[in-house]
Amino acid sequence: MATDDEANHPSSSVLSVVKTTGENAGMSEAPSISQAERDELRRHGILLTSMEELYNWGRSHSVWPLQFGLACCAIEMIAASMARFDIARFGSEVFRPSPRQADLLIVSGTVTKKMAPQVVRLWNQMPEPKYCIAMGACAISGGPFKQGYNVLKGIDRFIPVDIYIPGCPPRPEALLNGLIALQEKIRGQKISGPDAPRHLQRDDKCEYPIPEFGARDLEPPSNPEVWQAPTIVRKE
Ligand code: SF4
Repeated sequence: MATDDEANHPSSSVLSVVKTTGENAGMSEAPSISQAERDELRRHGILLTSMEELYNWGRSHSVWPLQFGLACCAIEMIAASMARFDIARFGSEVFRPSPRQADLLIVSGTVTKKMAPQVVRLWNQMPEPKYCIAMGACAISGGPFKQGYNVLKGIDRFIPVDIYIPGCPPRPEALLNGLIALQEKIRGQKISGPDAPRHLQRDDKCEYPIPEFGARDLEPPSNPEVWQAPTIVRKE
């Protein structure tokens, strides 16, 4: 029962909703509460959250990229960390010189077939949870060098890519937009169950096969576990 004072308090109606839904749902289930009700509680200094939200919030705002670039797109990546664009606003200004301390690989530039094994090796040396942004047309598909004999047609042939940023080159704002998209992806992740991300799955291998620079091409030319050639259906 609420007293008169409590009933007249602006937050009492919201609190009663929480209590009611909690009783209806039973002790074993978390009470359901809408975003509007949460916002109302927040206005009165009450913050409701879950372990999952707290965990994802912390990770999404401390994504540390590897200090690594491949070609002209890397100049745009560097510009994103300077004062004008200030990637520090998103908690990602700490570019790490060692893959052991980084959790974001920004593939910024042309991936030649000679360089691809080193990119996969760097990815393998990064600890989980880790994420990959393919920045620019070259990293996504080979870009203007797609028909070249020496350029990989997309880094997603060897490692899983979380965010693709098109452009030649994408501007620093596009990288920041990609980083925000990655943060949203991290905040939406489950920390248990079948929908949990790769690093929380028991059978996750964490490491990916490193291709070798063979006589004519990379061997193998792609990792079938992360990439399959799209099927082209021709209409008669
Ligand atoms: S996408 Fe364009 S700007 Fe970026 S590395 Fe390739 S050629 Fe350079």
